[in-house]
Amino acid sequence: MAATQSVRRVVILSGKGGTGKTTVTSCFADLTQPAVLVDADVDAANLHLMLTPEIISQREFWGAKVAVRDPAKCNGSGECERRCRFDAITEERVYDSRCEGCGLCVLTCPSGALTLETVLSGHVVEARTPYGPLASGRLVPAGESSGKLVTEVRNVADAVAEAEGLSLQLIDGPPGIGCTAIAALAGVDLALLVTEPSASGLHDLKRVRQLLGHFQIPASLIVNRCDINPETTESLRRWGDEERVPLLAALPFDEAVPRAVRAGVPLTRFAPSSPVSAGLRQAWDAVAAWLWSA
Ligand code: SF4
Ligand code: SF4
Repeated sequence: MAATQSVRRVVILSGKGGTGKTTVTSCFADLTQPAVLVDADVDAANLHLMLTPEIISQREFWGAKVAVRDPAKCNGSGECERRCRFDAITEERVYDSRCEGCGLCVLTCPSGALTLETVLSGHVVEARTPYGPLASGRLVPAGESSGKLVTEVRNVADAVAEAEGLSLQLIDGPPGIGCTAIAALAGVDLALLVTEPSASGLHDLKRVRQLLGHFQIPASLIVNRCDINPETTESLRRWGDEERVPLLAALPFDEAVPRAVRAGVPLTRFAPSSPVSAGLRQAWDAVAAWLWSA
């Protein structure tokens, strides 16, 4: 990752989709503008839906490799099919969507009929928004190398931050703890975890916390729709205390949230006096104080 000494990076994560992570990111973008905004959820990018972007560039990203067969050289041995752990190849064809590009079949093909070729993985998009520049990635359907695409998007964000002298990056992270999440974590100063009060929410949080612990990244917590289960919200608060993941805000259900999403406007701008807007302002103030005192 390109070095931009004074830049602070905050990633907004959740163990799974649908917890309100993008709503939080868009509100922080509104509260702190201008920052470089990054949509690292390349499988289902949707931050742009809240930020009225104007696209200024879109370029292809060729990252994944897949096996390609030269039928003229193939002797039908079936060795590739026996070797492939991903059921991605038979004597008849290669299934691109399953091929992980590991290269084992290429190494073991007795007649040298297989090669690895780079294929289109997705697109890197740069845009302008009223809240700051936006870098995002779009994986092609069933595309591979999503982690590499996230890294490419992050590199673009670093370049934009440096060129425009912006000292903050807000990264809307992907759900889960896979390679895209790991790529989204590189070089971040703080992870903000957004969850809902449910047993599965706590389970997912523990997995993300473990990943963050591995990279020694400090974390804070926001509980969304806290009033649907106050007891579990309290459990999440206790878990956060024990794990040094302080609860910054417990946000109630707020019918202004879906209306803001439908309008494509950050909630803090759409309904500035709503309870969730107030909670997010408080959370952002805490994040900003931490970032610039660290
Ligand atoms: S291992 Fe090589 S020669 Fe054998 S079936 Fe596969 S591509 Fe053909
Ligand atoms: S490159 Fe790896 S995943 Fe792809 S077909 Fe060959 S053995 Fe299977």
